[in-house]
Amino acid sequence: MCLRKTGLLVAAAIGMGSAAWAQDADPALVEKARALADARSQASFVRQCTVEPARFPGLGEGVAATPAKLFDNLYYVGRTDVGAWVIKTSAGLALIDTLYTPADAETIIVPGMRQLGLDPDQLKVVFATHFHGDHAGGVPYFRERGVPIMLSEADWGPLGGAPDAASIARDGQVYMLGETPITIVLTPGHTPGAISLIFPVTENGQTHKAVIMELSPRGGIDVHKEAVTGIAHLAEFIQREGVDVALHPHEMIFDPVARDFIMSAATRNPGSTNPLVIGNEATHRFAEMVGVCWQARIATMEAAAK
Ligand SMILES: [Zn+2]
Repeated sequence: MCLRKTGLLVAAAIGMGSAAWAQDADPALVEKARALADARSQASFVRQCTVEPARFPGLGEGVAATPAKLFDNLYYVGRTDVGAWVIKTSAGLALIDTLYTPADAETIIVPGMRQLGLDPDQLKVVFATHFHGDHAGGVPYFRERGVPIMLSEADWGPLGGAPDAASIARDGQVYMLGETPITIVLTPGHTPGAISLIFPVTENGQTHKAVIMELSPRGGIDVHKEAVTGIAHLAEFIQREGVDVALHPHEMIFDPVARDFIMSAATRNPGSTNPLVIGNEATHRFAEMVGVCWQARIATMEAAAK
């Protein structure tokens, strides 16, 4: 009772209404996830461990964020409610996600890049983490300008199919742009072909590894089982590659420290601590936590189906 009450209070506090905890069938799973959650992942814990969470509070109501440099080679050119990032490499630029519309691309991403000294003509590739409109809506803008677009095969489907084999993002593929390896990990669940991306970022002479993770499975038991497998697969990459920076198009909006940093990074003092570096252990623990939450959802859905 106490667990449910606390959860609802937290859920209400972050605008998630009265979503129920996925604890009824197997409370031990929710407790296991709770033990893996830390201060910065509380809101993600609540969201992932509730059944049918509400849509992201504020989604679609955002505005252009102040363009900002997050690392030596990673820039934010997104909105306040959904992200877009540019990776700078020795052979040009990669864009991850494209916001809602071609107009967003033209009026937010491109001017943001120019403001940061990044030449939009140097864009060599655009990755869309999945086909949903808030991530792939700006794809036509870049496609019309001849920039290669990468999505998984499954997520190309709703966009009319992949134009060619080279445009298909494949699980485990390492996309080399100049000296920078961008590793693609298929993490289905939110969509059938959602991808997560892992790449190096540097700062103060140190190299870190960042992941942009795709989370939040949408669907029934089978979709959630696929998502559990996918996040475990990603967790292996996180461990093996020593990933210590965790980002998400929306979910890290629930990490108040990361959000505040991203939204104010333009005014950051050079050399100050970068709170996006949370360490490999915390990144891995986050992935483990959300996987356990989804197992709790599965147990609840299976119990309800009996
Ligand atoms: Zn989506």
